[in-house]
Amino acid sequence: MTTARGKDFAATLRGAVRGEVREAEPLSRWSTYRIGGSATMLCPATAEDVAIALRQCAAEGVPWFALGLGSNILFPDEGLDALVIRVGKGLDGVTHQGALWTIGAGMPQALAAKRTAAAGFGGIHKMVGVPGSVGGGVVMKAPHRSRRCRRRTTHAPSTPHRACA
Ligand SMILES: Cc1cc2nc3c(=O)[nH]c(=O)nc-3n(C[C@H](O)[C@H](O)[C@H](O)COP(=O)(O)OP(=O)(O)OC[C@H]3O[C@@H](n4cnc5c(N)ncnc54)[C@H](O)[C@@H]3O)c2cc1C
Repeated sequence: MTTARGKDFAATLRGAVRGEVREAEPLSRWSTYRIGGSATMLCPATAEDVAIALRQCAAEGVPWFALGLGSNILFPDEGLDALVIRVGKGLDGVTHQGALWTIGAGMPQALAAKRTAAAGFGGIHKMVGVPGSVGGGVVMKAPHRSRRCRRRTTHAPSTPHRACA
């Protein structure tokens, strides 16, 4: 049975992506609370890396887990037998056409607030003191809690929506 911790799984992924594949990576390094065991981790360099990883996981029946800046997560001591896809640098680009901003899921919310405000736009400026990534904010808030976030998000193409059990 293929597992995310298998050497072959990591080697195949490493050969296919531009980003970095880390084996037995301590998850405690990647969460604010500094707890959690290890997992195989992909630090994607591009959105295409994420697509490649998701396709490989689907083909090999391996679960995956999207991780942002780790501000709101507690990893188990035994780690995860899943591919952890760390959405951060490489997926943190920002562009805008008029008032329509496209912000990478990996950008810190506070930085997105500063960048948009510095260009003279309000709306997400209130996120300036909020920890976490734009992707984490969309996933955690858009469906449930924040009407402000939901109203201002038109689509989220690089934000995967299925996590491992
Ligand atoms: C001290 C503190 C203060 C806060 N204050 C506020 C506040 O004032 N207002 C407010 O609105 N919120 C607040 N929050 C919530 C904060 O916005 C969330 O913690 C943050 O959005 C989570 O983003 P993250 O990148 O750290 O996610 P993580 O902690 O890395 O992940 C959290 C969850 O989101 C999922 N996820 C993360 N990124 C992605 C992605 N790109 N694609 C798919 N799934 C993803 C993960 O799988 C996980 O289930 C606060 C949180 C803390 C800890």
